[in-house]
Amino acid sequence: MPAPLDRSASWPYDAAGEPGPYAYARDEQPNAVAVEEKLGSLEGGRSLLFPAGMAAVTGAVLTMLPPGGSIAVAEGAYYGHTVLFEHLRPWGINAVEFDQTGPPPAKADLILIEAPSNPMLTLPDFEAAAAHAAPVICDATLASPFRLRPLDLGCDVALHSATKVLAGHDDLLAGVITVSDDGLFDRLHRTRHLTGLVASADTAWLLERGLETAEVRIERMEASARVLAERLAAHPAVVTTRYPGFGFVVAFDVADGAAARRVETATETIVNATSLGSTHTKLESRHRWEGDRCPEGLLRLSVGLEDPEVLWGDLEQALVRA
Ligand SMILES: *Cc1c(COP(=O)(O)O)cnc(C)c1O
Repeated sequence: MPAPLDRSASWPYDAAGEPGPYAYARDEQPNAVAVEEKLGSLEGGRSLLFPAGMAAVTGAVLTMLPPGGSIAVAEGAYYGHTVLFEHLRPWGINAVEFDQTGPPPAKADLILIEAPSNPMLTLPDFEAAAAHAAPVICDATLASPFRLRPLDLGCDVALHSATKVLAGHDDLLAGVITVSDDGLFDRLHRTRHLTGLVASADTAWLLERGLETAEVRIERMEASARVLAERLAAHPAVVTTRYPGFGFVVAFDVADGAAARRVETATETIVNATSLGSTHTKLESRHRWEGDRCPEGLLRLSVGLEDPEVLWGDLEQALVRA
């Protein structure tokens, strides 16, 4: 059962005038601690909850990247990371993209890989990343800790947008970072505390509830995604199908941007919306957000819990317009 919801921002000191385990919610909050324990045991480390995936990345980079340092970011990975680092360039954050299927650039001070990358669905070379002198953050949002544990693969930080499959219902934003090094944990915790990058009690409670079904949701979503990826690959209107062999996200390309727009707006059960990992199947063109870094005909499909035959029927009728 999720821990009882406690929305307090402040708790009374004890009779001797000393703070108890909770004093002020920017430091620690019982619902966050409860969900962090569950996330940490799934991931094999100690977890910190953040109010969004992007808050988790911000906290990690402010803590781990030396001023003026350079961060190597996987190319074809989550677009928001690249945009954030570009925005922070005036503060001395220098991002360089690299092909994560090979080794990171020698000069990097921090490495951000993604497993699998969103939306190109490549997998990093974990050995090459771990062999680099710089610390490695792995964004494993699309895999989930049920399929891939970055800390076991030599990464220093496992990162998730918990907004996606961990919460699973499109009703909250959250992020999580997990590490095994206690010193790094303390530095990340201090950044979170001082910057106020803190999730609400309601967010933590809803995420804890979502986690109760995450594994069974992923099993069902993945089984359907496998079937759909296979059928999409054989469909004459589909030019390329990207599927790493596990997980619930499939990306496929139709002829061009106009065809992608016709297909994404023709589905009936499948929702034409952004985000991924929720109970409802979603489809969207990523070129609309990412511009030239993403093929114009690429459609990202996040498979939900619906009957896979219904989903295939919907895709087939939409692909007639491609
Ligand atoms: C959505 C997403 C993020 C950003 O998370 P928010 O919760 O939207 O801030 C980061 N990485 C990946 C891979 C994502 O899909």
